[in-house]
Amino acid sequence: MTAARALSDLRDAIGPDRVSDHPGDLARVLRDNSWLSPVLSDLIEQRRSEEGDTLGLVGVAAPATEEEVCRTLAVAVRHRLPLVPRGSGTSNFGLLTPPAGSLVLDLRRLKGEPTLDGESVRAPAGTLQGALEAAASAAGRELTLLTTTYASATVAGWVAGGHVGLGSSMYGSTWDGNVTSLRVVTAEPEPRVLELTGDELVPLIHTAGTAGVITEVQMPTVRAREWTEVVVEFPDFEAAVAFVRESSVDPAWAHRVVTAQEPALMPAFRPLAPLLSGGAGVLAIIDRAQSGALAAMARRLGGRWIDWQPWRGGTRPSLASMVYGHRMLWVKKLHPAAAFLHLYFDPLEPERACAELKRRFGERVVLEVKYVRSPHLCRVFGFASHQTIAAAVAAVVDGGDPGAIREVLDACAEIAVPVQNPHTGALDDSGLFPDMARIRAFARAVDPFGILNPGKIRERSGAS
Ligand SMILES: Cc1cc2nc3c(=O)[nH]c(=O)nc-3n(C[C@H](O)[C@H](O)[C@H](O)COP(=O)(O)OP(=O)(O)OC[C@H]3O[C@@H](n4cnc5c(N)ncnc54)[C@H](O)[C@@H]3O)c2cc1C
Repeated sequence: MTAARALSDLRDAIGPDRVSDHPGDLARVLRDNSWLSPVLSDLIEQRRSEEGDTLGLVGVAAPATEEEVCRTLAVAVRHRLPLVPRGSGTSNFGLLTPPAGSLVLDLRRLKGEPTLDGESVRAPAGTLQGALEAAASAAGRELTLLTTTYASATVAGWVAGGHVGLGSSMYGSTWDGNVTSLRVVTAEPEPRVLELTGDELVPLIHTAGTAGVITEVQMPTVRAREWTEVVVEFPDFEAAVAFVRESSVDPAWAHRVVTAQEPALMPAFRPLAPLLSGGAGVLAIIDRAQSGALAAMARRLGGRWIDWQPWRGGTRPSLASMVYGHRMLWVKKLHPAAAFLHLYFDPLEPERACAELKRRFGERVVLEVKYVRSPHLCRVFGFASHQTIAAAVAAVVDGGDPGAIREVLDACAEIAVPVQNPHTGALDDSGLFPDMARIRAFARAVDPFGILNPGKIRERSGAS
């Protein structure tokens, strides 16, 4: 069957205005933030030069209800049409680069008012994550985790494409109970709607839509705190890391983020520049009730405390736009060719790995250290006896050269520092999924013809 026939069946199934093969629409839905990876942007550029701007995409379908998602999937399965779900396209891991001949399933119309149900909030897949936070906030509550792209990313796109965010220093990752249930449509001849909870969610989390199309997300909320943003300047990176460690390993401290930056990186955060004097920096969003005690800790470690603004209602650029994923945008201004690698250090002595990397690479690798209170990531990266893990990000300054990334990966292997590599399209190679067999088995059960985002799982039919 031809692509034209598949598109015609799709128009019959969900309406002509919901399906397009206009080149402008195709080029628009292919945009994501892969440009942040020099490796992925080279690969995509190469595909563009060989396949044209639409990368051989046959169309885009934009269902507005779960029922329309089911009908779209039934047609796609009948035609064996590869299908790539899409939210807002903010992902930076090349997650939206479909193989030639695919259909993009744009889920942004599947949105609605979030509903608070006791301590949880739920919303259709295409709702912005910030709308869930706003709904919780109106009831005096807040989400445990918030991606820094909350104002533009869909909640399901974050579950399928992200994994941490503001709040991870207290509550961990999306695998740590921060998603409580999902409704998911299968890619079978007669698509089913599954309602998954608890451990059943694992094959869906951060797996790029390979294990079903998410139509609704439920997340937990907690009592809202009064957060305030602070910058602390330290004479050197070691002192900044010591502050981050002490305030993160002890669960008594409440923060949405506490992160240490090397002195060489601080000029990247231009709005902060007038306040700084060349030292290392900590950017933090902390519970206002604890600011006196934390300031005392900072002073004891040699830090200079700078109140920036309240987290809600501040008029300056928020520190939330300088941490987690957003940090990349600022670093890129300083080092346009930078490539980022996520490194996981021993939570009790992160300075050992920092020192070793600085000894080997000097200014070629610039480090950030923060903590993620994630028993899941502790298990994945071999720190099973801990509840929290030092989640560092290395900016490889000359990352445009694939050899430079390889050199850092090799060094990390030598010094036993586990790495999450975002410069690959395949989940198998990212380092985040020790149990690919489980993901493969689930994907086979819900997608027997392998049409969901094929290519993101290597050897889909491999042993389970
Ligand atoms: C500046 C910047 C900051 C970022 N900050 C963070 C951060 O703080 N924390 C973090 O975890 N990530 C962060 N990210 C990456 C993160 O993946 C995205 O920001 C966001 O969560 C993705 O949402 P989206 O709606 O844009 O999804 P998309 O980018 O559209 O999709 C992401 C993936 O999910 C799949 N998908 C989308 N919708 C569905 C669905 N309904 N069902 C199944 N699969 C689906 C897509 O196929 C794709 O593989 C950041 C990225 C950038 C560029």
